[in-house]
Amino acid sequence: MCLEVTLFLPRGEKSKASEKGVSEASGLHVNKYRTDDGREAFHLSQGGECSCDLLPSKFSWKNPNWELVPERLPQLAAAVAKVASQSKAFSFRARWLGPDRPDPSSREVGLKALLSIIRANAIGNGVEYVVGAA
Ligand SMILES: [Zn+2]
Repeated sequence: MCLEVTLFLPRGEKSKASEKGVSEASGLHVNKYRTDDGREAFHLSQGGECSCDLLPSKFSWKNPNWELVPERLPQLAAAVAKVASQSKAFSFRARWLGPDRPDPSSREVGLKALLSIIRANAIGNGVEYVVGAA
């Protein structure tokens, strides 16, 4: 079972940010793809596979918030800021793919608030943070 950390564009929108641009801004491995429901997405990880490599060796997927490796937090914030510089509306989510996870939810936030949450290592488990909702 895996953690997946992903930035999503609203359906029908395209980000001018490139995989390479977000990767260079953050130092993370970035995979830009299209979701099954047609949204453009940037998947973030350290090594290019699942996002489990953002987690310390000991973690729980049942907690309300993720505790990620502290060194990865400024990198995630940089990736979010890079996407935000090209798109007013987007969302960010760290979701566990497996059983026993909290119910998915979504929360509207400002960009500054989202960056603070990331830097404080308090990213909600399964929470989709929606920035710039109309
Ligand atoms: Zn994994």
